[in-house]
Amino acid sequence: MNRFSLTGRKALVTGANTGIGQAIAVALAGAGAEVHCAGRRRCDETVAAIRTAGSTADSVLVDFADPMAATGLFAGAGYDILVNNAGIIRRNDSTDFTEEDWDAVMDVNAKALFFTCQAFAKALLAEGKTGKVVNIASLLSFQGGIRVPSYTASKHAVAGLTKLLANEWAAKGINVNAIAPGYIETNNTEALRADPDRNKAILDRIPAGRWGRAEDIADTAVFLSAPASDYVHGAVINVDGGWLAR
Ligand code: NAP
Repeated sequence: MNRFSLTGRKALVTGANTGIGQAIAVALAGAGAEVHCAGRRRCDETVAAIRTAGSTADSVLVDFADPMAATGLFAGAGYDILVNNAGIIRRNDSTDFTEEDWDAVMDVNAKALFFTCQAFAKALLAEGKTGKVVNIASLLSFQGGIRVPSYTASKHAVAGLTKLLANEWAAKGINVNAIAPGYIETNNTEALRADPDRNKAILDRIPAGRWGRAEDIADTAVFLSAPASDYVHGAVINVDGGWLAR
């Protein structure tokens, strides 16, 4: 048996229309999974790429502006894998940070992630199945950052919830783990890469000497979705070119 194969598994990936979520969806499909790509917009590009490669995919419309938006997706639907990737960031000085910017980020990045995990696990337990949760954390699950208070709070929450849920569900055969991406070339980081001073400062600190690619994260997501990681519970794996080791 290939312990990295996802053949016969059904996965939901949130925020799969672009960036890291898109790469994860494509990689899970490449490993054999049927992938349902959730987003507030249709994930047409991702679905087309997966189908062109000969695998099975579909779009699911979910807007986490309502953190409970995905809770109805799982009962009786046969999912085996959940990747909570959707996330947003708002920047402002902490002295000026608004309640709206606090709530918007906490709702998508932390509250929606928790209740989506809850609904997924309830469905698995009701069906007597095992499964895999992969949460997308951040370097700011460990570090403070600057001018991003709700993002930092939400990503610390992702790391904490990953461990808490692993403690509750490991013995029930549900693996809950997270990936902490470093600086990855996506829409999210376009402004940083366009600023020569910030770009140089970031690259100077990355031992690998390059920005990460969405595919770097996707390969770790395949591992955490596959039987190969069956004994991995509550881990937050840094995929950061060595940033946190520095
Ligand atoms: P991205 O390209 O901006 O992707 C974010 C995804 O989340 C998009 O698909 C976005 O959909 C979706 N999303 C946002 N709000 C949503 C909502 N209300 N409902 C449903 N989906 C929503 O950025 P990315 O870099 O790939 O980020 C993916 C994840 O990685 C995030 O959790 C982010 O915090 C994390 N991360 C990224 C980096 C990095 O360096 N890039 C580093 C650490 C962690 P729309 O396209 O519709 O907005």
